Formats: sequence, structure tokens, C-alpha cells
Amino acid sequence: MTARDAVSWSAPYRALPEDIFWSPVSPEPLTGAYWVDKNESLIEALQLEPWLSDDLIDAYAGSTPLAEWSPLAQVYSGHQFGQWAGQLGDGRGLYLGVSQSGEHAFEWHLKGAGQTPYSRFGDGRAVLRSSIREYLGSEYLAALGVPTTRGLCLVGSQTPVRRETMETGATLVRLCQSHLRIGHFEHFYHRQEPDHLRTMIEFAIAQLDPDLSDVADRDALFFERVLNRSARLVAEWMAIGFVHGVMNTDNTALSGETLDYGPYGFLTHYNPDFVINHTDQTGRYAYGQQPRVMQWNLACLAETLVGSVSVETLQGLLKEFPARYMQAYQHSMARRFAFAEDNPALAELLKLQQTAFAKPGTYYPESFALISGFEGTYLSHAAVDRDVLEQAKRLWEREHEPGLRGIQNQITPTWMLSHWMLDRVIQSAEDGDCAPIRRLRQGMHQGVSQQLPEAVRLNSQPPPADGGFHLSCSS
Ligand code: AMP
Ligand code: MG
Repeated sequence: MTARDAVSWSAPYRALPEDIFWSPVSPEPLTGAYWVDKNESLIEALQLEPWLSDDLIDAYAGSTPLAEWSPLAQVYSGHQFGQWAGQLGDGRGLYLGVSQSGEHAFEWHLKGAGQTPYSRFGDGRAVLRSSIREYLGSEYLAALGVPTTRGLCLVGSQTPVRRETMETGATLVRLCQSHLRIGHFEHFYHRQEPDHLRTMIEFAIAQLDPDLSDVADRDALFFERVLNRSARLVAEWMAIGFVHGVMNTDNTALSGETLDYGPYGFLTHYNPDFVINHTDQTGRYAYGQQPRVMQWNLACLAETLVGSVSVETLQGLLKEFPARYMQAYQHSMARRFAFAEDNPALAELLKLQQTAFAKPGTYYPESFALISGFEGTYLSHAAVDRDVLEQAKRLWEREHEPGLRGIQNQITPTWMLSHWMLDRVIQSAEDGDCAPIRRLRQGMHQGVSQQLPEAVRLNSQPPPADGGFHLSCSS
């Protein structure tokens, strides 16, 4: 068998009726394309080397697509910041199809390849800055064991793209189980097109939960699956201190994968009110609001199912969300501290963790490694509450299960993906040096619990802790 035979390609979404579910789109090429990084471990794991040879760069930069691809833009709608926004859709990204390597089926999406019928006023482009943020952010979450889209490769260019300043365009190929969003269901529900909504529901079940395809009450069971996956996802975000920043329903995947990295970030000190997105003036998407927002988004999904599932059933499931979230959060924290799941001391440890890392100048993502005694170079020392940290360490020492440390070792970061680290990496890349991106990506694959000199260098000298940090949505 040749390497090419190890992978098969399909494009199931293209079988849905054109113009109702999608539009055909040819990518628009960027000029002066160069590789910023190829995700070698992922490429190797999925046996994709023949499709990522250097000579194919033009396809990834938006010239003639590879023969295996079927580029199209999907239509969807959504609620943004709590308001119905109407039709949105892939405005600067294209579905390319699905690759199957052994057990692994991944949907491909080319982001930044030009305008589509759903671009509205946008230019269809993604800038290098935000593409690097997405590429590294998603690899970091994957390394921490959080479900997410993955970046396969990142291409830079000389094409100028206007944002607050002039920047350059980039493309990112990202892979995931499915790019279907809550907004895909909302689109047909709000247009009052029940037949198309039914087609969409059947497609989603076939893609994500095929074991339910022939079950009579599959819509209710599917909703429950989405609810459980979403509870687990937001629990992982809360556990590691991740703030998505734009949890609109069009950015919420039905697969329970982290999708659409925009103005995301990680907590510095532990602060439920932490807001990363500067257009989010009411703090709707603050760190501590994320579970509640996920439940709100799921209520939007539930509404689309009232034609086939009773309101009592949907409301009953939605009411279960907080308990399922809490269970998933405790499960995640137990894994991250190598605690037995039913150990009642976990609650006390979490209180100590939050208290020790509550002051500006501490960095919550470091708390797991510091409490559990991982070797590393940490930034939290000056402001951490020493007494409380010592109490937490003693409790951890007494209560953790050595037999569970294997998993903990894989998912405990000794270095964090800070916003200033990302800024420094982006600056280097804009100055022509992409090596720091490659070294960080390789470090993530070696394991985030291992010390990484590049990360220590890039994390040193953080900006003042009370400097107030916000990111813009512009990407
Ligand atoms: P986002 O907030 O990035 O998830 O985007 C919300 C919607 O705006 C989606 O439909 C995107 O495809 C679209 N969009 C964002 N930026 C652009 C752009 N530069 N060009 C075209 N469409 C865009
Ligand atoms: Mg989006």
C-alpha cells in the first residue's frame, strides 16, 4: 500500500442541496506565499505527508485546490452577544472535505482564502497575527487534553490586509470532527423551513452520532449528547483557565470541540470577572460566565427542536446542565490533580488553589504545577499567597493518588501560553522569523509538563499585572 492509499477522501456535505446549505466557492490566492509552520506530528499521525509537500504550497495559499478537495462555503446563522444576528455563514473559510486515515476522520477547513457569498462586508481574509494565535492556541488546548479543532498548517503571504493597521494575509488549514455549529440548526429554524431543518438534523446525527440514526426519539437523544459534550467542553475551559471570548451560537460546535479562536486568552490571576474581549462591554463572555452562556446557547439549540421533541423534555435536559457541568468540572480537576474522583478533599484543594492565585501578579495556569511540585520556572512567586500555597501543597501531598499521576503528567503545563508570549512570537514572525512558532509547537507535542527553554524565554518579563489586558475581535 502506498502512502497515498492510506488516506481516503470524501465530501459528504456536498451531497446536501446546493444554494440552500452551501455555495460553491473558488479560493482567491494570496501572493508571495511561504510556510509559517507545518504541524509535523499531526501530519505524521494522520499519514498526510503526500498532501503537504513543499511544492503544494500554492494550493494552501488559495490557488488551484488539490484534486481531493471540494471547496464550498456553508451557510449558518446565529445569536451574537445575545442578539439574533440572522444569516452569517463561512465568510472567510471553506469546507474542503473529509480525510479518513485509519480510524481518524477529519473535516478540513481552509481559513482566510477570500470572499464567499457569506462574507457580508468582510474581505474574506485572516491576518497572520490572528492565524498564529489560532494555530498555537488550539495546539496548546489539545496538549492539555481539551477537545479542539487542530491546525494542520499555516501559510503566510505578502498580500496586504487592512485591519486597525495594515497587516498581511495568511491561511490556516484546520481539522476537526465537524464544523457544524448551533447556528446551522438556527438558520433553518428561524427561516421557518422545517424540511431543510430536518435534513440538517439528519446530517448532523449521521456525522456526529451515527449510532442514533435509526432510533425513534433520536432528536432528543442527540440534543442530550450535544448538551453532555458542551458541559464537558466548558468544564475543561474552566479547569484550565481558558476564556473563549466570543461564545456566540455561531462559534459553538455541535461536536463539543473548541471552535473559532478569536480574542481568546488564559486567566492571569484567578478572577471570575476576567473579560478578554474589549468589545464585550457587559462582560457577557467573562471567564466565570462561560458555563451559564453555554447553557444559554444550548437553549437556542433546544428551541430549534420544538417541532420534534416535547418542550418538557427539552426543558428537563436544559435544567440538568448545571449538574452535568459540575460533574465534568470535578472530573477534570480530579484528573489534573491526580485525585480519586470521589475524594471529598478535592473541594478544599480547589478553594485553596483559587485563594492562593487570587492576586494580580499570580498566574492561575501555573497553579497545578506549583501545587503538585513540578519542576519549572514560574512567574507567580512574588504575589502568590505563600501560606495558602503551602497548605494546598500539604493537602495535595496527603491526598493525591500516585497511580493517577500518569495522566496528570501529560496534561499539567509547566509553562503557559501567555498573551505576551503570543505577542512576541507574532512580532518575530512579522519580522521574518517563524522558528519560535515551530519550537513552541514541538514543545507542546513533547508534553507541556516538560520545561521548554523557548517558553521560559518568551514568558519572561510579563507586562505589569495591573495593566488591564484586552484583545480586539479584529482578525
Ligand atoms: P467570527 O466572529 O470570526 O466568528 O465571525 C463572525 C462572522 O463574520 C462569520 O460569518 C465569519 O465568517 C464572518 N467574518 C469574520 N471576519 C471576516 C472577514 N474578514 N471576511 C469575511 N467574513 C468575515
Ligand atoms: Mg465564527
